[in-house]
Amino acid sequence: MLQRAKVIAQVAQHAGIKPDILQEALKPTVTAIQRSVPSWVFLGPPGVGKGTYASRVADALGIAHISAGDLVRTVMKEQTELGRKVATVVNEGNLLPDSYVLQLLQKRLQEGARRGEEGVLLDGFPRTRAQAESLLTFSDVQLALNLSLREDVLIAKCLARRNCKECGKNFNVADIDLPASPTAPAIKMPPLMPPSGCMAYLERRSDDNFTTVKRRLEVYHSEAKPVEEVFRQAGVLKDFHITGGISETFPRLLAALQARGSITEEKQAA
Ligand SMILES: [Zn+2]
Repeated sequence: MLQRAKVIAQVAQHAGIKPDILQEALKPTVTAIQRSVPSWVFLGPPGVGKGTYASRVADALGIAHISAGDLVRTVMKEQTELGRKVATVVNEGNLLPDSYVLQLLQKRLQEGARRGEEGVLLDGFPRTRAQAESLLTFSDVQLALNLSLREDVLIAKCLARRNCKECGKNFNVADIDLPASPTAPAIKMPPLMPPSGCMAYLERRSDDNFTTVKRRLEVYHSEAKPVEEVFRQAGVLKDFHITGGISETFPRLLAALQARGSITEEKQAA
């Protein structure tokens, strides 16, 4: 970087112009392209149905659904330097460092911008405060929707997750129908059942048991707080409590996303 500044200073002196003007003219344009692509962020604990809602909302709004998990799996198959680095970390069972996650996302956003993508919905990202702060510098975050659901229902949903080992799709066999209590309203969530062809191939993750699910939720909440705080301070966080199944929740979700104009106004007023 210093070397670059030195060269610019020499060239500027030679050409008789101010170094800072030359520096400005030579700035990479990649940042400008990325900044113009609006993004929506879906936050929420395991079991909340984030992936399902994210893919349906992205389809409805005509924007791309970027899942952090898919990005990681894709890059691991590529014979690139980054792909090999990511594979090493993941295969050792470690969490990806922020710098790798950010590189993956920036690469994906650049490719999308080149294809003329008009917006992206981020699912499973950002996971840390540093990732969230960084995202705000290179993407125009319109809204971070913070999905929540009653804890007992979350646990039931996590325990009822099934994956088809034949086609790889995820389903949820939980049939939730809880009456209202003095502290909580009634909640009815029909299962997301697989087609009959998948039934024979359903698998449950070995670590989807009560103790690990409860622990995973605790870890999620402690890790999510700083991320929520970054978006709250940026004026783009919106809490969204789920109280029913997809057919009841989906229209409310779309309405919440379309009401984002009011958030922008609040941000400007602040
Ligand atoms: Zn299947």
